[in-house]
Amino acid sequence: MSEQIPLHDLGFDQRVERDLNNPALRTNFREAMDFLMDKRSSSFTDDVKLQELRTLGASIRKRALSKLPDLLEQLEAKLKENGIRVHWAESSEEANQTVLDIAQHHGAKTMIKGKSMVSEETELNEFLEKKGIHPVEADMGEYILQLAEEKPSHIVMPAIHKSKEAIAELFEQNLDDCEYTENVDALIQAARKELRKQFHSADIGLTGVNFMVAETGSLVLVENEGNGRLATTVPKVHIAMTGIEKVIEHLDDLPPLLTLLTNSATGQPITTYVNMISSPRKGDEGGPEEVHLVLLDNGRTIPFADEEMRQTLQCIRCAACMNHCPVYTRLGGHAYGTTYPGPIGSILSPHLLGLEATKDLPSASSLCGACSEVCPVKIPIPDLLRRLRHEGVRKLKKDEDPVIRGHGAKYTHTEKAAWGSWSKLYSSPALYRTFALSATLLRGLTPSKMKGWTDYRTSPKPASKSLHSLVKNYRKEQEQSRNKEAGGSQ
Ligand code: SF4
Repeated sequence: MSEQIPLHDLGFDQRVERDLNNPALRTNFREAMDFLMDKRSSSFTDDVKLQELRTLGASIRKRALSKLPDLLEQLEAKLKENGIRVHWAESSEEANQTVLDIAQHHGAKTMIKGKSMVSEETELNEFLEKKGIHPVEADMGEYILQLAEEKPSHIVMPAIHKSKEAIAELFEQNLDDCEYTENVDALIQAARKELRKQFHSADIGLTGVNFMVAETGSLVLVENEGNGRLATTVPKVHIAMTGIEKVIEHLDDLPPLLTLLTNSATGQPITTYVNMISSPRKGDEGGPEEVHLVLLDNGRTIPFADEEMRQTLQCIRCAACMNHCPVYTRLGGHAYGTTYPGPIGSILSPHLLGLEATKDLPSASSLCGACSEVCPVKIPIPDLLRRLRHEGVRKLKKDEDPVIRGHGAKYTHTEKAAWGSWSKLYSSPALYRTFALSATLLRGLTPSKMKGWTDYRTSPKPASKSLHSLVKNYRKEQEQSRNKEAGGSQ
């Protein structure tokens, strides 16, 4: 399994090298991803219907984003009308502080958490621990990672990199009365028993949100384990935390998106629980006395301002792009070093963290297009990766508005000069021929080691004959043979 050196202590190349040299991790990931790919393909059996559904899903998300400011205002008004308190957070710090303020207002010391990638993004757990509030993850994968002090490696199945043997050891060391067992059901029961106690004693429940419906002021949360339902109903206070892009316009927009999300993520026609939260408790019906929604920007308005980049925000976090990516399936998620790994992470993280911190991610792709073929909302991921690569080596013109933080983070004079020369060489036939002739004549001088290039590849030695001369010789031979045949038939 992946050795857990803190992600920020290693550079991207080092993380990739570490995980490429971990055969167990690679095998486990490959098997898990094959399983998820099979589940998805067996649930979408009719390609015509699938394509129609994807087109509908993409249009719903595009429409919502085209009206984002208005829909957010409508959502806020509706939520307030329903009795849900809305908090806006421009940054991770602001979001964490808001959660802390609510918790302190209630004198809270413990928090039970349903799955929330946004709280991973803001590093909420670390922040709360420092302030004396103990959060407990209730999603099984997240719970395992909290015990192991690790980060998620997948956005839907956060602990997919952990083997049952590793989990058995972890539970034996951390849970009361839990003996080592590789029986998965027994392991789940052991964690369940522990978590039940936490649900009942927690002062606050915190969850993520999959969709927010502006028309009705509803927060939609899908899950399979029931932890989301418990976290949103048992504690007296529920805090939901999500990104501003998750809003949709109508309740009617929800069913197609749910179908796309669950089938693309786990091959399920629907998840075990679909929670729709529209208000705090009413009378004796049960549920929390207070519901809060923390809406996080954290850099999302930057891609929103650019029509092409805005497509990044269409994402419904199904992880299908990760499951089908030949790079992610071989590396796993920790190598990326960001909360959102894989193809979606490579187009989203540069906006959240800036290109200086993420400049290698848009290049961690073969641009094969497998991600965009399966994306349920048709995000053109390879086009966005190419755009980010371009922004990474481009200097802003005078008075030009930035479309991303960290423009030109990958710009180097050497690379600029190299591509400038390449462009001249390939646009002049005379220069190109001279170059090709010299390369073939001097091929014996090609160095066998070329810095990073030859670490995983053979040295690019020119062929003994250029393509031009091979074609020339071929044509000559063809002509000679035609002449010979013509001579013979006379
Ligand atoms: S980019 Fe598309 S495939 Fe990837 S997680 Fe988002 S919605 Fe799913």
